[in-house]
Amino acid sequence: MINKNKRKLLIVEDEFINREILKNILLDDYEICEAEDGESALEILKSNKNNFSLILLDLFLPKLSGLELLNIIEGDGKLNNIPVIVLTSDKELEVQCLSYGASDFISKPYPDSRIIKARINRVIELFEDRQTIKSTERDALTRLYTRSYFYKYVADADKNNPNQEMDAIAIGIRSFHVIKERFGAQFSDSLLVRFSKRLKAVMPNISGMVCRLEVDTFIVYAKHIENYEEFHQEISADIFVDIDNKTPITVQMGIYQNVDKNIDIDVRFERAERALDKIRNNVIKNISIFDDKLKEKEMYEEELIEEFSTAIKEHQFVVFYQPKFNIKGDKPFLASAEALVRWKHPTKGLISPGIFIPLFEEKGLIQRLDLYVWNEAALQMKKWQEKYHKHVPVSVNVSRIDLYDPNLVKTLLDIVKQNNLETKDLYLEITESACTENVDIIIDKVNALREAGFMIEIDDFGTGYSSLSMINKIPLDALKIDMIFIRNAFRSQNDNQLIKIIIDIASYLKVPTIAEGVENKEQVEVLKELGCDLVQGYYFSKPVPEDEFARFLTQE
Ligand code: C2E
Ligand code: CA
Ligand code: CA
Repeated sequence: MINKNKRKLLIVEDEFINREILKNILLDDYEICEAEDGESALEILKSNKNNFSLILLDLFLPKLSGLELLNIIEGDGKLNNIPVIVLTSDKELEVQCLSYGASDFISKPYPDSRIIKARINRVIELFEDRQTIKSTERDALTRLYTRSYFYKYVADADKNNPNQEMDAIAIGIRSFHVIKERFGAQFSDSLLVRFSKRLKAVMPNISGMVCRLEVDTFIVYAKHIENYEEFHQEISADIFVDIDNKTPITVQMGIYQNVDKNIDIDVRFERAERALDKIRNNVIKNISIFDDKLKEKEMYEEELIEEFSTAIKEHQFVVFYQPKFNIKGDKPFLASAEALVRWKHPTKGLISPGIFIPLFEEKGLIQRLDLYVWNEAALQMKKWQEKYHKHVPVSVNVSRIDLYDPNLVKTLLDIVKQNNLETKDLYLEITESACTENVDIIIDKVNALREAGFMIEIDDFGTGYSSLSMINKIPLDALKIDMIFIRNAFRSQNDNQLIKIIIDIASYLKVPTIAEGVENKEQVEVLKELGCDLVQGYYFSKPVPEDEFARFLTQE
């Protein structure tokens, strides 16, 4: 009989014999669940949320690797409450797993069973202690409810008043990060405290309760009302963003009205947040309702996520190539190409990466897609070399999340080797915004990639708020000027000051510049004059399928 008080463990390990060893050691003390690969582990976790006290995770798994799974767990607000112990025979990986969110590791071959038991016990104990400390009812700064308690009270409210129509509201302070930059953390904290007091004071007016979700985002659960204008005025009156009390704050709200009580509480507030996100950059709108359009978008995104695995299996993702031309000399010539992915969806048509890449980054799927694209691009490069006897380097996009993968260098080296290529043929585009957090980790990783022989291009340069001193530390081989600068420079006044500055930075770093989004001859001429080395954009070609790209390889 299963002991009701036994804690539940999940063992994720593809080798039968290893699973059996662990099971034998642990069966007396724990209730054991098993998974043979990453995907089925994820399914078990999703259907059993919060039931496991610990996950024992092997790193080398079929379907979804251990690291990918760890990544997904860490990114999931419900799953990251479960501690993970990594099982590995690779000393190198052990430490990296810890920085990835694992709590501990057990090395293979397995140590004495007493050691295994002790480690597992210790991790579970530590985690449970930490949960108790974390689960305080009120936020330390504002004294508003914290999320877990708030959700509990929401559930209670529903239970007590099942027929009452309710609204879920997300509230944010416009440009909070700018206020913080300008007046400092102390001032912005006091602003949050004042704002929280106001929120709490007006709650009785709408029969609501309030919680601080994160930094400057608050959520409210209240009796349904049709019109939020008055409430909006009430919460923002008499609170100022500056020290001299001159400029009042602007508050923005997203509202999911008449919530469907059959859906999870966190999904209700996610909907309110979606509505809020929609107007975050809008300077005029302050109130936004979760409507059918947003609901359709939510459904569409859910479908994309569900269909992802099949799409990879069925090769629905196709890689297009866009040429980069060198414009230094008299006649522009083909220098390299960028691989850009598209989704040829069987029923939805051609979907652009602008739609699915941010979604996949958020949902932990981007690594699998990038790996697929890198493989495709390498294979293509080899084919072109064989058919046209031309060496055209191809650059691939490397997502911020890929950079935290301890196996990244090896993965890329394997791809190069399998296709009989050289590392210097594969360029890696890393977006500048990836370089603004965890700088030391990123610098180490980029150094390792360069040491392995890959060329590094910093993408979207100028948009990522990285300081010059930091860019100076990041080893790189080219700067890509974001197309927004080209757009702005060639608007009415023809002001190319910012492009000049970026080209200056590049020459100071002794690397070439690549201008993106170049659409006409005039732009090419001016960029050439300013000393820009390479140009990519519709003027030369849109991204095209590989067969169309062949025309650039046969051109002289
Ligand atoms: P990006 O890396 O900055 O790529 C440049 C984008 O500008 C591409 O959009 C390209 O089609 C577009 N573009 C190029 N020339 C012009 C031009 O002259 N005018 C205009 N208006 N646009 C131009 P695309 O292909 O839609 O890709 C959007 C973004 O999606 C990319 O921005 C990149 O961040 C991401 N992405 C695409 N493929 C991948 C991938 O395989 N992996 C990852 N992680 N991200 C990818
Ligand atoms: Ca790029
Ligand atoms: Ca770019």
